[in-house]
Amino acid sequence: MYLQFEAILLERNLMQMNEHKLLLKGGRVIDSSRDLNGYFDVLIIDGRIDKVEKDMGQCLTDEILDVSGMYVVPGLIDMHTHVYPKETNLGIFPDSIGVDMGVHTVVDAGSAGALNFENFRDNVIKKAKTEVYEFLNISKYGLKYGKGELSDLKNLDFNLNRQVIAKNREYIKGIKARASASVVGEMGITPIKMAKDFAKEMGLPLMVHIGNAPPRLGEVLDILEKGDIVTHIYHGKPGGLFNPDGTVLKEAADAYGRGVIFDVGHGNASFSFNVAEKAIKMGYKPITISTDLHIRNVNTSVRSLLLTMSKLLSLGLEAEYVLRCVTVNPAKILKLDKSITPGNKADIAVLKIEEDPIEVQDSDKFTRILQSHFDMKYMINTKNVTKF
Ligand SMILES: [Zn+2]
Repeated sequence: MYLQFEAILLERNLMQMNEHKLLLKGGRVIDSSRDLNGYFDVLIIDGRIDKVEKDMGQCLTDEILDVSGMYVVPGLIDMHTHVYPKETNLGIFPDSIGVDMGVHTVVDAGSAGALNFENFRDNVIKKAKTEVYEFLNISKYGLKYGKGELSDLKNLDFNLNRQVIAKNREYIKGIKARASASVVGEMGITPIKMAKDFAKEMGLPLMVHIGNAPPRLGEVLDILEKGDIVTHIYHGKPGGLFNPDGTVLKEAADAYGRGVIFDVGHGNASFSFNVAEKAIKMGYKPITISTDLHIRNVNTSVRSLLLTMSKLLSLGLEAEYVLRCVTVNPAKILKLDKSITPGNKADIAVLKIEEDPIEVQDSDKFTRILQSHFDMKYMINTKNVTKF
C-alpha cells in the first residue's frame, strides 16, 4: 500500500490554467456549510466558482473533468500538524503533507511561540503553496527545545504574545498548550489554566494536547469552553476517555455536550482503534479529524490525512460525516469561508472511495484491514488542477 501511495505521487501532473473555463461534471458535491449534498456540476472560471447547478451539459468549457462517482468537497484542512522545520527538529515543510498530498490547508499546532512566530511566518507560511495557519504555543519558545515547554512559567510571556497576535491575526487562529506530565512537569494544571484565560482574552480557541497525567484529563476538560479543542482524544494511554469500568469520563461527556471539539490528532502515540471505535459507538464522534503529522511519523502508521480519514471511515462513520470533519468543521474554527459558492475562490478537493482492502496500524501497533479507503483524485487550487 505504501509503495502504491508513492507511485501515485510520482504520477501527479500539474496543469497551469489561464483564463480558463473548467467544468467538474457529475460529482457528488458535499458542502454542509450551505446544505449542499447532491449531484451537481461545478463551473470554474479563472479560478473562481461561477455556477453550481444540476447538469450543465457541456456548456462551452475549455476543459471538462468527469468526476462521476467522486466526492467534490471544499479543500481539505488538517487541524493538527507540525510544519516548522527550521526551528524544531520534528518539523516538516508544509507542502510535503499539504498540497503534495491533496491537502489545501494545514494548521501548525504550536510549533512556534511568540519568540519565533515571525520567523515561522516569513520562512514557512509565506513560502509554502499550502495554506498554513498557526495555533500559537503559549510558551514563547514553541517546541524549539522539545519537551517541558510549560514546566517553567517564565516561558509564558503574555505581553509578547499580545504583541505578536495583534500583528498577525490573519495567521494566528488559536492558542496551543500541551497538558501532559512531560510538558508541564511540577506545574500541573496551572499553565493550562493560564493558557485558557489568555486565549479567552484574545477571543481565540484553545487547543489542548492530552497525554499522560498529571494533569488529569477531567481537570483539563473542565477548563475548556464551547469551541475549544481537545486533541489526541482517542489515545490509548492510561487516564484517557474511559473510566476503568468502561463508561465515559463524566467531564468528557459534559465537555462534548457543551461543544468542546473532539479532535483526532493521530500521531505516533495518540490514536487507538479500540478507544475510537468504542467512543464512536457511544456517540462521541470526532468533530475534526487531524493527523499530528511531522517528520518523525510521516513514514509510520500515520502517513497522511487521507489514511487517517479512512481509518475513521472504517469505524462506522459515514463518508459525508468524515468529509465534514476535514472541511466545514475546521473551516468554522478557523473562521475561513471555503464553501463551494459562486464567487468564492475554487479551493476544491475531488476524492473517491476505493473498495480495495489495505492493512493499516494504529499508534499502539494494532493492525486492521480497511475494506475501503479514500483516494485523492484532483485538487483544484484556484487556477491549478493537480491530478493524483
Ligand atoms: Zn502535535
